[in-house]
Amino acid sequence: MPDFENLRLFTLTVRYPAEAYLDRMWCTACSEPVIEDADGNLVHQYDGTILDNVEDETYNELNRDWEPEGWLSDPDDRAAWVERFGDEKFFWPKADKVYFTKGTARSRARLLESYGAKVDIVESEPVIWLTPERIQQNRIAELEAELASLRSVS
Ligand SMILES: [Zn+2]
Repeated sequence: MPDFENLRLFTLTVRYPAEAYLDRMWCTACSEPVIEDADGNLVHQYDGTILDNVEDETYNELNRDWEPEGWLSDPDDRAAWVERFGDEKFFWPKADKVYFTKGTARSRARLLESYGAKVDIVESEPVIWLTPERIQQNRIAELEAELASLRSVS
């Protein structure tokens, strides 16, 4: 059981292998396809406008037909996967969750890593619980600060 007084949360930062992506790019700002123009700039396909910040504004889409090398080559693994998921098709385990213990985050990280992803476990500071009293105290403190700044002006 987590200790709720000092609860820390965990999440994962996943970098999938380059070969697991489709050779296509998309703009994260508008979700439109991005292509390279004749001068080598990354541009929106629909109107040719150059992306300001390539690092932040493009992403590549994962190829749903990709599978890790040697995928289900072991007959026992194949039987277990098919029994559980209905067919042999590979899919990446979900990684967009918040985990309550480092152990569960780590086991999901290990699973993703076994398929070739690189994973960092990100840990939060202890969670601050806002009781109704605490919310009220915070609001009073905000209002008092605002009042003090108004008084200092006049
Ligand atoms: Zn865009």
